[in-house]
Amino acid sequence: MNNKYKILVVEDEDNICNFMKTILHAAGYQTLVACTCSQGQMMFSSHKPDLVILDLGLPDKDGLEFIKSAREHSSTPIIVLSARTTENDKVTALDLGANDYITKPFSTGELTARVRAALRNAVSTSQLNGSAEGKFTLHDLVIDYNRRLVTMDGKEIKFTQTEYNILKLLSNHTGMVLTYAAIIREIWGINDSGSIKKLQVNMANIRKKLGSKPGDNKYIINELGVGYRMSEEGL
Ligand code: CA
Repeated sequence: MNNKYKILVVEDEDNICNFMKTILHAAGYQTLVACTCSQGQMMFSSHKPDLVILDLGLPDKDGLEFIKSAREHSSTPIIVLSARTTENDKVTALDLGANDYITKPFSTGELTARVRAALRNAVSTSQLNGSAEGKFTLHDLVIDYNRRLVTMDGKEIKFTQTEYNILKLLSNHTGMVLTYAAIIREIWGINDSGSIKKLQVNMANIRKKLGSKPGDNKYIINELGVGYRMSEEGL
């Protein structure tokens, strides 16, 4: 069994802890629970989990402190769990090195999908150094990385170089949110005042070419104020 991953949940609310433990256990994961930030930090060093699910509102310290200390020496995926609805907290957490976030209340499917995506991305990043191999398929969309060819229902769709690079980047991180800043850094290298606008224009063109209507989340989900996420089959 390859999914006996060890997951550390840092969360102070009992009912959410129990809910997550039940779901993660049913999905075949081993779960450890810490109720404070300090306890979480200790368990993180001693148990070396494969993934952390971290609440931001903890009784002793802000969960952001956990991310800061963990990222000094570790690239273990961290999914932030937040009741806060402001985009700022999510962006701050992601900028500090969190890999993704889930907003409370969340569904079973959402939790397991985020966990799966984060673990998968951690593995592919370490093994392939992020390089894309072969093909990506989502519904009727196929990206052939070797031929730089995008087809839908077997028909080729023409993308500009930049559009293709964005599409490739998102598809290499399926199911995970990428912040505007992260995408801009990857695609253009520098982040100036016009970058967000440039990204939005490119995304609008990509979505139009994929035949997506506003609010349509079939291929690319626009996480308002945060970034973009490539959808996953079956969600
Ligand atoms: Ca809390």
